[in-house]
Amino acid sequence: MIPSSFEYYSPTTLPEALSLLQKSGENAKILAGGQSLIPVMKLRLGSPSHLIDINRVQGLNYIRESNGVLQIGAMTRMADLESSDLLRSKYGIIHDAAMHIADPLVRNRGTAGGNISHADPANDLPATMLALDAEFHAIGPDGSKKFRAQDFFVDTFTTALSHDDILTEIQVPAYTPGSGGAYMKLEKRVGDFAIVGVGVQISLDKQGACSRAGIGLTSVGSTSIKATNAEEYLKGKNLRDESVLSMAGKLASEQSNPATDLRGPAEYKKEMVKVFIIRSLMRAQKRALGGDM
Ligand SMILES: Cc1cc2nc3c(=O)[nH]c(=O)nc-3n(C[C@H](O)[C@H](O)[C@H](O)COP(=O)(O)OP(=O)(O)OC[C@H]3O[C@@H](n4cnc5c(N)ncnc54)[C@H](O)[C@@H]3O)c2cc1C
Repeated sequence: MIPSSFEYYSPTTLPEALSLLQKSGENAKILAGGQSLIPVMKLRLGSPSHLIDINRVQGLNYIRESNGVLQIGAMTRMADLESSDLLRSKYGIIHDAAMHIADPLVRNRGTAGGNISHADPANDLPATMLALDAEFHAIGPDGSKKFRAQDFFVDTFTTALSHDDILTEIQVPAYTPGSGGAYMKLEKRVGDFAIVGVGVQISLDKQGACSRAGIGLTSVGSTSIKATNAEEYLKGKNLRDESVLSMAGKLASEQSNPATDLRGPAEYKKEMVKVFIIRSLMRAQKRALGGDM
């Protein structure tokens, strides 16, 4: 299908992009990697009047640690997340999630910021960021803003960003020894959207008990879900105890609300949340203890 006609702009600075966004009105859209927006336009599920392409804006593509946070520029390609040694060695959950997103073609173009801003509950990075308690930084007509990941995903395809905001950076608390994470995804074929996806990030104290747990769920609700009940439950618990893992799986599953669709019945998906919580907690624990990166 061919999209409806639109005005196309290709600014080279953020202020220029912001000004174009403001001038173009509520039906304008940022174009990043185009891997969700272009299909939406071709299927005529959306027909933006103006596209503000930010691919020529410099300085939005980086992965670095600074001042106790991991910073990821919004225009960082998902392929760069996948190939980053820093992420592979210290932020296994992000590396896992990136590897499981679509195929290399989509990952070469699609951006971290676009994956998050699209707010598709089937996308893998939103749940990853919920598990990590990430913060999203944006710029709008009144200056910079920040959002906690848990406040950002308002509804399916809807975020807390205003129509004239641009997401600029994702921030994640920096790695500390004794922490580890994992993202696991049940998919029908490699590269598919998740039937169920689970992201887990934990920290262990000196006695080996869980001092912090973050859990995000993909494809089991109208938004990506932060499994807060399981997170709370895990605090102070010994993750070597199988009954603890099972209870966390049960609590997370109770917070999920999947639909029955072509990917499977709701009951099956709820069961898979339990299974994948247990598996990803085991992998996260292994990594927190220094193994299996
Ligand atoms: C065949 C196929 C398979 C896929 N499989 C998966 C999968 O398994 N897992 C997965 O997670 N995703 C999957 N996707 C979706 C895709 O990975 C992402 O949703 C996509 O890459 C979004 O990033 P983008 O840079 O391409 O954003 P775009 O498509 O350019 O934009 C998406 C939306 O975000 C907005 N936006 C983008 N950047 C910004 C910004 N900086 N500030 C404000 N708004 C912004 C746009 O205006 C638009 O509304 C798949 C896509 C395809 C085509």
